[in-house]
Amino acid sequence: MSFYICTAGTSLMGGPFKRDRFTTLQEQIATKIAADEDATHGEIDAFLKKVSAETNGLTRSDCGPSDEVLILASDTADGQACAKALADLITAKLGAPARVTAVGGLQVTSGEKFRQSGIRNLIRTVLRETRNARAHGEAVVLNVTGGFKGVVPYMTLLGMFEDVEIIYVYDFSDTLVRLPALPVRFDAERIAFALPALQVLNNAKIMAEAEFHALLPGRGWNDDPIFAQLIEQDGGMVALSGAGELALAGCAPSAKLGRLLLHRRARQSTTLNETHAQHALGQIIYPHLRSIPHHCARYAGKSDMLVWKEFGGLAPRIYYSVDGPGDVYVAEILTHDEHEREVVNGPRRIWREDYAADGFEEYRPPVPPVHDAYGEALEAFLQHNDSDRSLLEKRLATAEHELETLREQHAKAKASNNRLQRDLDEANERNGTLSGALAEAEQASGRLLAAASFAADAHRRQRRKDVDATPYVNHVIEVARILAEEGGVTDSEVLCAALLHDTIEDTTVAAQELQREFGKRVRHLVEGLTDDKALPNDVRKRLQIEHAAGTPPDARLIKLGDKIANLRDIMRNPPADWPIERRREYVSWAGAVVDGLGEGGTECQSRLRAVFDRIHQAALERIDNQADEVKAGG
Ligand code: ZN
Repeated sequence: MSFYICTAGTSLMGGPFKRDRFTTLQEQIATKIAADEDATHGEIDAFLKKVSAETNGLTRSDCGPSDEVLILASDTADGQACAKALADLITAKLGAPARVTAVGGLQVTSGEKFRQSGIRNLIRTVLRETRNARAHGEAVVLNVTGGFKGVVPYMTLLGMFEDVEIIYVYDFSDTLVRLPALPVRFDAERIAFALPALQVLNNAKIMAEAEFHALLPGRGWNDDPIFAQLIEQDGGMVALSGAGELALAGCAPSAKLGRLLLHRRARQSTTLNETHAQHALGQIIYPHLRSIPHHCARYAGKSDMLVWKEFGGLAPRIYYSVDGPGDVYVAEILTHDEHEREVVNGPRRIWREDYAADGFEEYRPPVPPVHDAYGEALEAFLQHNDSDRSLLEKRLATAEHELETLREQHAKAKASNNRLQRDLDEANERNGTLSGALAEAEQASGRLLAAASFAADAHRRQRRKDVDATPYVNHVIEVARILAEEGGVTDSEVLCAALLHDTIEDTTVAAQELQREFGKRVRHLVEGLTDDKALPNDVRKRLQIEHAAGTPPDARLIKLGDKIANLRDIMRNPPADWPIERRREYVSWAGAVVDGLGEGGTECQSRLRAVFDRIHQAALERIDNQADEVKAGG
């Protein structure tokens, strides 16, 4: 049971596609197949050998129903049409199930695309299919007869690297040639160091050149010409080449241990018998130890060999190469100083060809190979790593905790900020209100001073009727004070009107003048408190009682204040010529007027009414007492 892999060419078309508008690709292929069937008179074997190189090779290698065939088609329409027809023929005539896989990028119009993706995809596909078939116990055979000519060399080499049988039949011969294997292999030692970098590049598909170079170990690797074949470089970017793909697949270090051979010159090294060198030689035959990046270096232009050393800057440098089955050929062992002086900073060059094969002898270091030598180092490294990790985990936990705390603080700060903002808004609003109020208050006090000044001027020639002949203006100022302090009145126009309440009645001031100076409202308030002086005194007094009920609310306040002031004057400082009866009469009349104003009203009115009632009561009692005294005295 074999698994055949062939690439499909376009021989089934019997020549270039004619592209005449009446014939399809499939029709041209069918015509060619029919013609070959006719020419071979129905003899299947002859037909299969004639119709295509691919079927020729398969027929001669006895491909049959128990086998499988994979046809790799190019990335072109005619290639795929031929591959499909070929698969159908193989299935029908040979009885082997055949399937077609198209290989992206495999074409002949773009060389760059052929190199960068065609070959790479071909190698990938063949490797994948080969390994898969082998995993199922099938023998893999690469049929390089016919097919896509450009990829034949790659298929052939691929077969040699992967140890796959390769068959070939020359067009005009009956002989099936099984291509003998060549001992070709990658320079695995040189590539092994770069395997991790190549693996990363393979995963990334494409990387910046500098980024890739940074992944290469040790010194001098960037200049190693081997990378020209392993990667494709284009515009500062790199990708794995087809060869790189193959190298990556084929260079896993061998588990098989080889021999350690030392050249005569290495045996003469001054440092050979020192612990460092002995220890290093005990380890160098282990491929996995040789591949540790810290241990390897290359000095392009100074040596074409690999240089290995143990940890530690002063460790000896071992120049070596690895051959075939993993034998390690050590050419030179230099001390650190020799190496620096002679090679790195000096003219010495170390080339593999200068160390003839007969100069090497197998060598067993007196210190036996230490299997776990690196194990200890690795252990230490891992422990260090672990402690680093747990330290980092602790830091992470702390940082996360801090972050959480900061988040909480932030949330709190945000809430408090919102609160403060609200407070600030409120304060601003209050401030605005207060500013308004202050401006109003300033305006009001200005108005009050103006009204006081106006009243003082208007009443300047008048005196009260008391013994001291008090300036009249004292009365109106007292009325305004009673309203503000005892009645709680804050309305500046009402207070102004209180200051001006007697101007029209008792002076030459005209209503118009009040309106001009203090506005309409003040004028109307004062007018409402003004008696008609043309009328006789007793009529005016009666009208005050009768009109009291119709007095507007604000005017009532002033009327109350006026009466409170007058009653107080009568009690403390009565008019000089008023006998008791006249005083009683005035007090009673004032009570009647105030009763006419009614109960209730605004809070200010209630307060003033309470003040009035108290004084009115006291005044009546005082007058009664005084009358009794007069009687008793009389
Ligand atoms: Zn008055």
